[in-house]
Amino acid sequence: MIDNFERFDMKAPPVRTKWYLRPLTLLLSAPDVKKHKCIITKTGTEGLKPPFVLLCNHNAFMDFKVATKAIYPWRANYVVAIDGFIGREKLLRDVGCICKRKFTNDTTLVRQLVRTVKNGDVAVIYPEARYSLCGTTAVLPESLGKLCKLLGVPVVTLICHGHHVNSPFWNLHDRGVKPTEAEFTLLYGAEELKQAPVDEINAKIVKAFRYDDFAWQKERGIRVTYEGRAEGLHKVLYQCPACKTEFKMSSAGCILKCNACGKEWRMKELSELEAVSGETEFSHIPDWYEWERANVRAEVEAGTYSSGELPVRVDSLPNAKKFIPLGTGTMIHDMEGFRVKVTDKDGDVHEMVKTVPSMYSCHIEYEYLGKYGDCVDLNTLTDTWYTYPDPEKCEFAVTKMALATEELYYAGKR
Ligand SMILES: [Zn+2]
Repeated sequence: MIDNFERFDMKAPPVRTKWYLRPLTLLLSAPDVKKHKCIITKTGTEGLKPPFVLLCNHNAFMDFKVATKAIYPWRANYVVAIDGFIGREKLLRDVGCICKRKFTNDTTLVRQLVRTVKNGDVAVIYPEARYSLCGTTAVLPESLGKLCKLLGVPVVTLICHGHHVNSPFWNLHDRGVKPTEAEFTLLYGAEELKQAPVDEINAKIVKAFRYDDFAWQKERGIRVTYEGRAEGLHKVLYQCPACKTEFKMSSAGCILKCNACGKEWRMKELSELEAVSGETEFSHIPDWYEWERANVRAEVEAGTYSSGELPVRVDSLPNAKKFIPLGTGTMIHDMEGFRVKVTDKDGDVHEMVKTVPSMYSCHIEYEYLGKYGDCVDLNTLTDTWYTYPDPEKCEFAVTKMALATEELYYAGKR
């Protein structure tokens, strides 16, 4: 049945933003940029003209709005994941979005970006390809340096600060953080780029992308007084550092709690954590997250990592019109990668296998669209499977699966 669906046309050439939509995009972005009093600092970009490549960090929808302001009035094509297109494909195409399925190697996309640059426009890319989970850099694709070299135009970065702290991926409530900041920096001029080896370009991009939103918040002394500020944090911090139990954390108000040993931590206004009683293991949220990563890495190195067999339901997204309920079945994530097997209502079995070398990272969602809870999205070039483990029937953390995807990939390369 799955093959009868019309597929999203990934090959459609990028649309040059219609002239009448350009002021509109700025207008739509302006209230938020203004509300958060975003300060854009330009370094080497003062006299810059398109075409160029703009590499942006990705923490919240606000990123698009700041990018629009930074490059106005130039035209741009934005690389956007297919789920951003649902129900509004025409509009997104008209404002210049190019569709991509996450974490797939896609030569069509490269051709489209070449077209953008030939048109004399700005190619906007969010190379982390997913929102940062705790306001620090997500993994960057190794193909980035090569892509920049191929496009042969200046490489510019736009690194925004404050967007995660303002509206973290795990609880989108707008905390009214201001002023936010953005650095609009020239990394390579076209001539310099020609001389630079790919490894050096990659290293320079990685360096430019080093950011830590919680450290930034503390440095700037920006307080978040929102009372529910810790709510959702247990999705990222899924393992207790006191008793080491996984998947038993919860959060309410400004308190994070382990339901196995009962230990509690308070999230303060500068986003530091403090144990309600006893030792504070980690006051800085990204340190706790990196500790979890180290534990996952140890499991990978020991060859023991496995999610176990999880009961799941899968929604498929063959085009940008709507999700198609595919069926229910099981998912395993282990040393071999992901294996999902579901049976649809006609009794047909569908399988998706994603090997370790095929994914350097993995997109996850928390409480996605308020439907069935947390999910992992797995992609082929023509389909996306939103895979929801059943929280009533099993224990898991999609965050751990995302960390494991990266650790498995890099272990395979070592
Ligand atoms: Zn505990």
